Amino acid sequence: MGETLKPFCDTIIGMNTEKPPRKPLEKEEYNRSDALKTIQLPPCEPFRTYALRLKDALASDDKKEVQSVCKLLIDELSLAYGVEKPTIKILNVRPRDEGKDWVYETFGDYDPETLRIRLWMRTAIQKKPTSYGVLLSTLCHEFCHHLDIVSLDFPNTFHTRGFYDRVGLLYHHIQNTPVRKIVWQQHSDGSHSIDWGRTMKGSPKVLA
Ligand SMILES: [Zn+2]
Repeated sequence: MGETLKPFCDTIIGMNTEKPPRKPLEKEEYNRSDALKTIQLPPCEPFRTYALRLKDALASDDKKEVQSVCKLLIDELSLAYGVEKPTIKILNVRPRDEGKDWVYETFGDYDPETLRIRLWMRTAIQKKPTSYGVLLSTLCHEFCHHLDIVSLDFPNTFHTRGFYDRVGLLYHHIQNTPVRKIVWQQHSDGSHSIDWGRTMKGSPKVLA
């Protein structure tokens, strides 16, 4: 499924959930995903070492190394969670689609049929390497879609509050940064978006 600026902006700007589906079976899955706010975390290593390598690879604009390190991260994550390995491909400039009052930029995607993750490493306008935080967070986001489908019995892998919580825990654990409790704002259609002001006021919690 494609990640446009709207759903992906999780760690950058927007971070919106989908509105709850109407069909009973899908709604039941959505509610389960929404309620599952934690995820078992793998050991710190080798993930933190790989995260530092990824940081260096992006700083030196080394696409080959970005590809190798992302593959190591995905392979080790799959091993830690005991799931089939998805493939991962690093691409260059983010696809961008623009309308009168909207812009969609693809940061990454995951294809549940082929178990393939793609991440774009260059920004759409300036074509510069994306920041390390954005790339790592997109990798965790797409891997959590994979986990949803192959391990957590969430075949539709909805973007729920629980989904974003699980991605956030994995992301902060891998790069060893403190987690903040996300404060959500509910909209009339049942969807939620992050309230950044209130989220940033909360005290960060350091993961073990
Ligand atoms: Zn997504």
